[in-house]
Amino acid sequence: MSNTAKHVVIVGAGHAGGSAAALLRQYGWQGPVTLIGGEPTVPYQRPPLSKAWLKGEHELADLLLRPATFYPDNRIELRVGCEVAAIDRATGCVALSSGERVAYDHLILATGCHARALPLPSSQLEGVVALRTLADADRLRPLLRANSRIIIIGAGYIGLEVAASARSLGAEVVVIEREARVLPRVASGPLSNFFQQRHLAGGVRIITGAAVEAFDDERQRVAAVHLSNGEAIPCDAVLVAVGAAPNELLASAAGLACDNGIRVDAAARTADPAIYAIGDCTHRPVSLYERTYRLESVPNALEQAKQAAADLCGRAPPAPEVPWFWSDQYDLRLQIAGLPFDVAETVVRGDPGSACFAIFHLAADGTVQSVEAVNAPAEFMAGRMMIARRKRVVASRVADMSCSIRELAG
Ligand SMILES: Cc1cc2nc3c(=O)[nH]c(=O)nc-3n(C[C@H](O)[C@H](O)[C@H](O)COP(=O)(O)OP(=O)(O)OC[C@H]3O[C@@H](n4cnc5c(N)ncnc54)[C@H](O)[C@@H]3O)c2cc1C
Repeated sequence: MSNTAKHVVIVGAGHAGGSAAALLRQYGWQGPVTLIGGEPTVPYQRPPLSKAWLKGEHELADLLLRPATFYPDNRIELRVGCEVAAIDRATGCVALSSGERVAYDHLILATGCHARALPLPSSQLEGVVALRTLADADRLRPLLRANSRIIIIGAGYIGLEVAASARSLGAEVVVIEREARVLPRVASGPLSNFFQQRHLAGGVRIITGAAVEAFDDERQRVAAVHLSNGEAIPCDAVLVAVGAAPNELLASAAGLACDNGIRVDAAARTADPAIYAIGDCTHRPVSLYERTYRLESVPNALEQAKQAAADLCGRAPPAPEVPWFWSDQYDLRLQIAGLPFDVAETVVRGDPGSACFAIFHLAADGTVQSVEAVNAPAEFMAGRMMIARRKRVVASRVADMSCSIRELAG
């Protein structure tokens, strides 16, 4: 059977799933494509949820990956508000929670992540929210008012982005981080320090090295947070931003290998030739570093959507990309390229005091492993190129602002 008749079913209508559906058509897939999403909305972008959307600067249309008409116009059957409950690999069907079964020839799992919850008894109180979906953001938005007191548990990207948005709306913000510094898992020490100082200057109170032990409530609404250091902090709302975990149960229940994400190869294939997995839910090879890793980012979702769509359409595989991320807080645009494996030396280029600088991380032989750039797009672009080319550099030349970064990358 040619691909004129074969049916691709995509589970998860987020950034990865929505992109894969569009790419299949772009690459010439002729057969039916069904995109099944548990949320009630057509595929949308999550990054603005902690930034422009919270601040009321975006309309719903600005969030959407593509206009709602794109899907019928491109013969993509989009089924929103529809949960897949099981995969039956023997018969090639997915079972919806309604009981309906949908047959597939090829299945793409793009189930994303869910926000981790705190293992505390009263985490279900009113006023305690997480942030993963548009519905979560719409619950959080009215809680961020002038002088409202919000506690953010977790100083990762989402926690700090919401802290910046909340300050711009006039809320009083306390950030609580269990580790000794902000952005502990995702940024180098010097970058953490820079962001901590910026948030302090923005009026955020930051408490590090303290865990949340309990919530107080008043008539089932959160009223205070108790910390391991004995302090109790009164509040009107709490955002739990302690990371995300992959939605892999569907895959593991179907017998697919999972290990902090659904295991896939460089073409996003699982061990079942009929099943691909893409986006935040995967644990994938990152060929540049000869490692496997689970990445949570829009560029990763797009890269793997391209891999799966190209493989299905019989196209040449797309060139491997350097992993990259971004975060917007206040007037700062942070861009990170690469992953900081095997770092032996860290070089700062530019002056952090000017809020325009970059931190290069080098392996022992001078190979550029990753770069963290704050309001420094040229350094980010050059760093990304250096990483892709496995370029070796001399640290003193990277630190020397009189050396052109483009020439160093060339
Ligand atoms: C607040 C916030 C801010 C972010 N900011 C940035 C940023 O600045 N830069 C960046 O690069 N990344 C950012 N990210 C991360 C980025 O949004 C994700 O990496 C990206 O959305 C991953 O896309 P995905 O399609 O893999 O997963 P998701 O976007 O999570 O989509 C998965 C979809 O699958 C659905 N689903 C799951 N299971 C089922 C099922 N059984 N049946 C049907 N549907 C199912 C889910 O409901 C969900 O809609 C941010 C994320 C959040 C939450």
